[in-house]
Amino acid sequence: MDFQLVKGTHDIINKEARFYQQIESLFISLAELYGYSEFRTPIIEYSELFKRDQNDSSDMVRKQMYTFNDLGNRSITLRPEGTASVARAIVNNKLYAENDFPIKAYYLGPVFRYERPKAGTYRQFLQFGIENIGIDSIYADVETIILSYRALKMLGFKNLKLKINCLGDQESRENYKKALVKYFTPLIDKMCPDCKERLKLNPLRIIDCKVPEDQALVKDAPKMGEYLSKTSKDRFVNTINLLKEVGIPYEIDEGIVRGLDYYSHIVYEFEYISKSGLNVGALGGGGHYDNLISEVGGPKLAGVGFAFGIERIYSLLKDEGMLPKLNDGFDFMVMPIGEACISRAFIVADFLRMLGYKAEAIIENKSFKAMFHKAERKEASYAILIGENEVKNNEVIIKNIKTQEQKVVKNKELKEFVDSLFSHDCHCGDDCHCDDGDCCCGGDHHGKK
Ligand code: AMP
Repeated sequence: MDFQLVKGTHDIINKEARFYQQIESLFISLAELYGYSEFRTPIIEYSELFKRDQNDSSDMVRKQMYTFNDLGNRSITLRPEGTASVARAIVNNKLYAENDFPIKAYYLGPVFRYERPKAGTYRQFLQFGIENIGIDSIYADVETIILSYRALKMLGFKNLKLKINCLGDQESRENYKKALVKYFTPLIDKMCPDCKERLKLNPLRIIDCKVPEDQALVKDAPKMGEYLSKTSKDRFVNTINLLKEVGIPYEIDEGIVRGLDYYSHIVYEFEYISKSGLNVGALGGGGHYDNLISEVGGPKLAGVGFAFGIERIYSLLKDEGMLPKLNDGFDFMVMPIGEACISRAFIVADFLRMLGYKAEAIIENKSFKAMFHKAERKEASYAILIGENEVKNNEVIIKNIKTQEQKVVKNKELKEFVDSLFSHDCHCGDDCHCDDGDCCCGGDHHGKK
């Protein structure tokens, strides 16, 4: 029997998984710096959470959800995004009751959409997102842009394009929708089946239709900017001025309306095309919302958030040769010389791990050649050789794999000796903050300077 991956899903294994971890931990540590805390919500939710509005026009809600009835005949949906779950968690846990705003949440995990798989588009993919809820302010809005911009810059992206648009307040959007209905109604026969439906449900969504015939019609459609109320216009100008002040380059793009119906005021997306021309679509994007928390049963609270797709970020970094250096090798490969020494090798490896070193014991009876071959494959820095003599004399032989230098070390001096191997080449001085074993001086100190 040949078991295949479900279409649109992929395995992330070994080195690739380490790269994913690095991207994810960069987002997490930056979000923590900005005061966000983690929300781990279930992957399954009752379907009504996402189908709040019968008239929801987003493709995601209408066509892309994995929805099924469970054995108790309840309609369950695999989450297609993270924001609604965070909103539900805030309401269920009454996090607003203390009136201590903003509530700052981040999340990381898989989301599911039944989309046509292509480069950078999967049916299960990982999203990292943040939500900043409770304070209706351009500062909250812009903070999310700054955080996402900084994260992408720290990952190494240089020519980032931040595209931003203003959808205005409800009044502005209603006026704009009316103008769109007036413009598109006579053209309905020329539009794609999806846009025919969008015209009834939410004409705003016609603006980002990707069908070329519809795009041609969109070119001459009324522009959102002309329908913004004075308050919305002023707010957008202030937002843009703040972006200028903090030095974040942007481009106003009236074609950005985003996939979900709950956005108001600003919406934005980050685009990046690699040197080889790889364009996987938006790296991430977000926007402001006014009604989401009240729609899921809470008070009327504004919010703003973004979500990034980890797969898209990974594939672009890979395409650009910008994946971070992995410090993945073993510190020690512990080699028993003969069957009788395996148990000592096993114990020594465990001792080293408890000291914070990455160590592996070879637990089969292997030839020297095979053991050193393994050490090379695993990028080990040192081999620890243990033969019957060493067992008898309570010692080990430590061999530097690169220089081939070796030394006999008594077991009781092992800790001191291995620590000295990894602590001598730090030139950072007292202001070195590296405690993750990968120091900025290039040394590997396992948290010790
Ligand atoms: P959205 O929730 O649609 O705003 O998407 C936020 C981010 O998630 C996008 O900018 C992408 O990076 C990522 N993303 C969305 N859909 C997919 C998908 N089908 N496959 C992979 N990544 C996706």
